Amino acid sequence: MRFTVLGSSGAWPTAGRACSGFLLESAGTFVVLDLGFGVLSRLLGHCGAEDVRAVFVTHAHADHCVDLYGLNRARALPRPPFPPLPIYALPEVMDRVGSLDGLEERDRLKRECEFHPIGPDQSMDVGPFRVRTFGLPHFVPNLGFRIEADGIVIAYTGDTGPTPRVAELARGTDLFVCEATHQEVPPEGTNRFLLTAAEAGRYAREAGVARLMLTHFWPGDDRAVSRSLAAREFGGEILLAEEGLSLLLSSR
Ligand SMILES: [Zn+2]
Repeated sequence: MRFTVLGSSGAWPTAGRACSGFLLESAGTFVVLDLGFGVLSRLLGHCGAEDVRAVFVTHAHADHCVDLYGLNRARALPRPPFPPLPIYALPEVMDRVGSLDGLEERDRLKRECEFHPIGPDQSMDVGPFRVRTFGLPHFVPNLGFRIEADGIVIAYTGDTGPTPRVAELARGTDLFVCEATHQEVPPEGTNRFLLTAAEAGRYAREAGVARLMLTHFWPGDDRAVSRSLAAREFGGEILLAEEGLSLLLSSR
């Protein structure tokens, strides 16, 4: 299985960086996880819009889903159009992105794509990929994904607050892609709906993962600091998500 980072920024994109997006490829089947600001342009450097077999979206925040709208256009507007884009997401993701159609083209996205509404604790197969969903706490409902293909298991949190469910999601995975928005622990009394780099490291250790990849960095933060904070908790290999970083994963 090939795993490629399309975007690694939380909140908004910076020069040369996109928001959350990852590409998985197995046996010629391409699946995308999240499509935040700037991800589509990077995705199309790896495959055609028509090659995407499915998009899985973690939650309805724009930095994780707004480029769904562009990818749907790249599928639906050519003449003749490509087959409808299969989108697996919570219903609120479709409502949020679909609102870009405005009143004059109401529900155009929903009509054009192939929407599969999903929720927590589900399992589905897309080509060689088996995908399981985990409900995780965030400002809005969020799904973590645990994905298996070619004997490899990857987990991706989307955005989440601290919860033992994160370690459950990541249990024994070959690659655990974990959001690590914060470096400092937010002040007491703040809603905890995002992780620190140290918490990402702790969950990686508890879950016994082979490799940890930190992502969803706050724009402008020194990512080497995030790595060292995670390394105090997790002794295994730690990667920093980086646009264009591509890993060929094979079973151990
Ligand atoms: Zn979010």
